[in-house]
Amino acid sequence: MEASQLISSIREIFGTKEFIPLHEPAFTNADEQNVQNCIKSTFVSSVGQYVNLVEEKLAQITSTAKATAVVNGTAALQVALRLAGVRPKDEVITQALTFVATTNSIVYNGATPIFLDVDLDTMGLSPIALEEWLSENAELRDNGTYNINTGKRISACMPMHTFGFICRINEIVEICDRWRIPVVEDAAESLGSYLGEKGAGSFGLMGALSFNGNKIVTSGGGGAIVSSDNSWADKAKYLTTTAKITHPYEYVHDQVGYNFRMPNLNAALLLAQLERISKIIASKELLFTMYNDAIGNSIKLIKPPQEQNWNYWLMSILCENKKERDSILNSTNESGVMTRPIWRLMFKLPMYTNCQKDHQRNAEYLEDRVVNIPSSARF
Ligand SMILES: *Cc1c(COP(=O)(O)O)cnc(C)c1O
Repeated sequence: MEASQLISSIREIFGTKEFIPLHEPAFTNADEQNVQNCIKSTFVSSVGQYVNLVEEKLAQITSTAKATAVVNGTAALQVALRLAGVRPKDEVITQALTFVATTNSIVYNGATPIFLDVDLDTMGLSPIALEEWLSENAELRDNGTYNINTGKRISACMPMHTFGFICRINEIVEICDRWRIPVVEDAAESLGSYLGEKGAGSFGLMGALSFNGNKIVTSGGGGAIVSSDNSWADKAKYLTTTAKITHPYEYVHDQVGYNFRMPNLNAALLLAQLERISKIIASKELLFTMYNDAIGNSIKLIKPPQEQNWNYWLMSILCENKKERDSILNSTNESGVMTRPIWRLMFKLPMYTNCQKDHQRNAEYLEDRVVNIPSSARF
């Protein structure tokens, strides 16, 4: 693969000689109007209609029963794990090929991660690796599943839907049901992705979303916990709003809760983007088609398995090897076309080097080869 061909194709598609970012938001007048209205109303902080409207819209898009908007995706993951029953000294199964927030949210709960391999095509947690690891290392007891090597309880499994590709979540949920391990989906990158009629985040006990500036829609900073069961979203609301007992005027809190609610001002910025999310996805799909036409013959553009509807969040190519990957990263970034490698595997980061893991064959393969290319919606 020639880096120069890739660079000229990207420049041609984006129609500019200027710097091309990896992923930038595209705002409209509707977004500005909502933010202005929010400011005029003075309800910019912890209560307001925009938060309620955003939560309704999110439940609809993700095909879940209810959503709770929070300050960011990391907080959503942290609280979802806590509600799922993760306690200090527990263990949580996840993938090493992920953004660091996935793993951090486990440690914020005092638990430790176990890193299992991903599938090559979805780049998400592999049900085969999961089944294999559990059958060799875990034991189902009356009060849950335990790791026979450490004696610790395995209290959750958190797969991540990489770049909006939905992992083999039905198989993962089926395996975890048998082992009575709750599933929390890290759906931070996958709002608007579907497997059949079901949206990312709707398969497990809870799902966590992110609306950071680089995601498919953004509230500046923000996130949400979604669930197909009303009661989990209600518990999330309570725990993220200081665990306050509803009362007309008294301040009574019966747990150490969090101040993690999404401010109304951020919800105002988000709402109109949610209303036009299918347009945003269509624009990104068109970009992917243009990439496919321009470079599809010479460069391997990574696509999700056919049976799913992808949100086209972040597009990527697969290089032949690490040497080619590094040369492409260097040439593109030097010439003002922003590209990024996939994440460094979690167990290679200093704070996670001693964590339990399996063979990591697919994760290592992808780490050496995947490069993200500019993916912004372009209207
Ligand atoms: C963005 C992201 C998060 C964290 O979301 P923030 O809103 O930035 O806290 C978590 N997991 C994954 C996989 C992400 O991509």
